[in-house]
Amino acid sequence: MNTKKQENSIIEISKNLLIGLKTTIKTFFRKPVTFQYPREKREIAERFRAFPKLNVNNDGSLRCVACFLCQTVCPSEAIKIKSGYVDYGDNHELTERQKHNHSLDKLKYGTYNDGRRHPSSFDVDLLRCICCGYCEEICPEEAISMGSNYEVAFYTRDEGIYGIEKLTKSW
Ligand code: SF4
Ligand code: SF4
Repeated sequence: MNTKKQENSIIEISKNLLIGLKTTIKTFFRKPVTFQYPREKREIAERFRAFPKLNVNNDGSLRCVACFLCQTVCPSEAIKIKSGYVDYGDNHELTERQKHNHSLDKLKYGTYNDGRRHPSSFDVDLLRCICCGYCEEICPEEAISMGSNYEVAFYTRDEGIYGIEKLTKSW
């Protein structure tokens, strides 16, 4: 390489270096656009939806009546429900229908005295869920709705299956 070419390449490198430095200096004084997650969290949009959650009545009982509509409509087969029956207590006279139901399925969740059917287990596999919101739309009881918590992490696939306890926590 002759001297003239060397000079040109040094000028070219210096020019590019200065252009780069100009950008660095310009952005150095700007407010950062990044967040120190998880210490700082970005505000999420009001209509943002993440995973489904189960809603409860004022007395803490599940709104869900185990109609299976959400399980049926879920495109990724993420919902698995088992229906259980109400524990009416010893002094309550059961109807024939209720006796029949009790004999069919002894699984119970909690103690309800509202004469309605409830799920004995209600699992949502968050690894399968695609957050489409179909379950919320189809539910006739407003028992399931989309929560806004996107921070779910687990070490095993089984931990990604959320049951009633986890699904009813406000998240
Ligand atoms: S949000 Fe969609 S994919 Fe997730 S559980 Fe509901 S219906 Fe299934
Ligand atoms: S959450 Fe709603 S749609 Fe799903 S089983 Fe319960 S009542 Fe039916």
